[in-house]
Amino acid sequence: MNGRPPHLTTRQFRRTLAWFIARHPAGAIAGALQFRHQRIQMFEGYAGTSDSGFRAEVEAEEALTRGQYLADTATEPDRPRLTGPAGAEAEQRLTAFARHAVFEGQVVTDETRLLRIMKLHDPAIYPGTFVTCVFNPDRALCRPAPGTSEEPELGDCRPLACRNTALTPGNREAHARHLAVLDRALAQGDRLAPYIRHRFQQQRQDTSDFLTRHTPEPT
Ligand code: SF4
Repeated sequence: MNGRPPHLTTRQFRRTLAWFIARHPAGAIAGALQFRHQRIQMFEGYAGTSDSGFRAEVEAEEALTRGQYLADTATEPDRPRLTGPAGAEAEQRLTAFARHAVFEGQVVTDETRLLRIMKLHDPAIYPGTFVTCVFNPDRALCRPAPGTSEEPELGDCRPLACRNTALTPGNREAHARHLAVLDRALAQGDRLAPYIRHRFQQQRQDTSDFLTRHTPEPT
């Protein structure tokens, strides 16, 4: 490139942008709120109102990212089982997905092929920071994602109450970190307004009970 900025074609630029959006850490609840804002702006501004096809491009990139994650998870022999109200259903869906995601003993990595598998056999499992959503629209407690009722809205997730919640060890750790944050805030509870203190105490109790219910006994 001889010190000159690289030249990106429009197609390369769009793919790069779609890649970035799809791999943004949308599972983090705080991050997802910001992401959702960006996504709405993107989809309902430039991309949603034009015939650019950019929405489809981002959705394909999201499906691919999720497909790669789910194929790796489904075929990982020694991983801990998912817990939570939908933990057993998550395991059933992953087992079914693994039958499609492995060909001749190898996990499918070819992007076109993996996208086709996702189109036909998407297990509708959505990984996030606090929750692994095993999506059933009729029991979802979040509002539908913008422009669709077929996907969960992780930025509006209610993991402690929703029956679509499954938990990986990483999800449980995220809740434990959240508990520690609440503990720190409550240690200085006399500086908090009574209403806020009460909310934090309630949240702490609910999160602690939830973790106790859905953390497996050590073997
Ligand atoms: S509220 Fe339920 S359906 Fe919505 S993202 Fe959370 S777990 Fe999934």
